[in-house]
Amino acid sequence: MSDLIIKNVGQFFGKGSAPYRGETADKVDIVEADAVLLEDGAVSAFGDFDDLAEGKRDTEVIDASGRLVTPGFVDCHTHAVFGGSRADEFVMRTRGASYLEIFEAGGGILSSVRATREASEEELYESGRRRLVIMITHGTTTIEVKSGYGLDTETELKQLRVARRLADDLPLDIVPTFIGAHAVPPDYKDERDMYVSLVCEEMIPAITEEDLAEYCDVFCDRGAFTIEETERILKAAVDAGLKIRVHADEFESLGAVPLAVEYGAASVDHLAVIIDDDIETLAESDAVATLLPGTTIYLGSGHFAPARKMLDAGCIVAVASDLNPGSCTAASVRTVLSPAAVNLGMTPAELIHGCTANAAFSLDQADAIGTLEIGKKADLCIWNATDVNDLVYRWADPRVYAVIKEGYVIYRDEISIE
Ligand SMILES: [Zn+2]
Repeated sequence: MSDLIIKNVGQFFGKGSAPYRGETADKVDIVEADAVLLEDGAVSAFGDFDDLAEGKRDTEVIDASGRLVTPGFVDCHTHAVFGGSRADEFVMRTRGASYLEIFEAGGGILSSVRATREASEEELYESGRRRLVIMITHGTTTIEVKSGYGLDTETELKQLRVARRLADDLPLDIVPTFIGAHAVPPDYKDERDMYVSLVCEEMIPAITEEDLAEYCDVFCDRGAFTIEETERILKAAVDAGLKIRVHADEFESLGAVPLAVEYGAASVDHLAVIIDDDIETLAESDAVATLLPGTTIYLGSGHFAPARKMLDAGCIVAVASDLNPGSCTAASVRTVLSPAAVNLGMTPAELIHGCTANAAFSLDQADAIGTLEIGKKADLCIWNATDVNDLVYRWADPRVYAVIKEGYVIYRDEISIE
């Protein structure tokens, strides 16, 4: 493995331990050093460049020239593997159709289901690969990927196999999640119980047999799955040894948050319409509140999650892209940070902890990634920004200068204009 030193670092942000919550949520947690040594794919030492470089004449050196270094971004909620495009539907929405109206007309998730069923594994791999490369160029080094556009056993398995191949081939870690309960497929519209049985009795065993997923997720909301259906699926998933995440309270609060917490969910996601009692329940648990502001912006719904209330109550808050073909096509957490700051009322420090340390915590990876601690994976970003305030203040502009995955530079943003 190659070793690497990054010198002249302006700010090392994110030195502590996950999760950041309560009094530490807004902590500008910086490592007091100007250089870092990466060895054998891990963070090895911080200090002065001259000390770190001593006796290491052949080690590659990157001059950060006063730039910000953060942990690689962790995108803990994506639907990055899917077939087709919903550009037509996007145009319909610009003309006034709502997400639920489109869904009820057979569009929405169901049109992606048709396209994903029709796509070959190779086609899904190629389109997924393009999206993941974009993610890397925006500073993301670990992602969660959900299935959920098959809604039949064969296609759900196909999506998860593609995710596994992508993880094998690309310098990006992938945590796979099964979400057969993403929508009720049209052929089971009048036999919902049979579909829930299919998820519990056929899909979950098939997925665990091939070890294709770490988590099981359920979309518990109006127009998706009820509380009773969600509970059946969570129970089957836990019994099969899967960990839990839940899509909750995006459109209507059905009681998904206390149910998810009861089943030990690692994360409850969306929470645009969460009620105060459920915020308290979350704050008293270790379940992460994963907020997806890109979706609220892209749907134009205006219903942002009450992030400030959650943070003040002591919830662990993460922020993710929710990359998907319908309600948010942003393949980058980085691009949603500035609008998230003003619409969620979150500080730059809270947001960066949300897409690094707390996101890693939600994926059960906090011992390996998400903070700049010695011994953790050398997954780092050097940003064209001086510090985290500068990064979030300048909307979408300061691009990543270099992305480092397990000690290797996997992306450099260079321009030849002086
Ligand atoms: Zn989602």
